Amino acid sequence: MDPGAASEALSAERAAASELIETMSVRLRSVVEAGAGESSDDEHDPEGSTLAFERGQLVAQIERSKALVLDIDAALVRVDRGTYGICERCGNDIADARLEALPAARLCITCASSADSSRRWGIR
Ligand SMILES: [Zn+2]
Repeated sequence: MDPGAASEALSAERAAASELIETMSVRLRSVVEAGAGESSDDEHDPEGSTLAFERGQLVAQIERSKALVLDIDAALVRVDRGTYGICERCGNDIADARLEALPAARLCITCASSADSSRRWGIR
């Protein structure tokens, strides 16, 4: 992939992820505030448990997005070094189609599908 196009795609992805983090952080604050007025000994309150669930979901999403931003930053460093688009495991080129779908991908599709952790971004 052309380095210019790569850093452009990565920057766009980074901006979208940062925006998502901001949006979810605002939502998380309002969820936390909504739960703050409730008595903590009333754990069977259905609304309270919904809020707790949503809070957990938001925290998880924010964590994932932060991890994605770190992956994107690492990919931008690889663009600078001229190693972008090279699989970190086997050293082969990562297919352009994969980079277009996942600009921060660290692994080629072969290594990604054999990777045991599917939780990490770029390895889906
Ligand atoms: Zn590979």
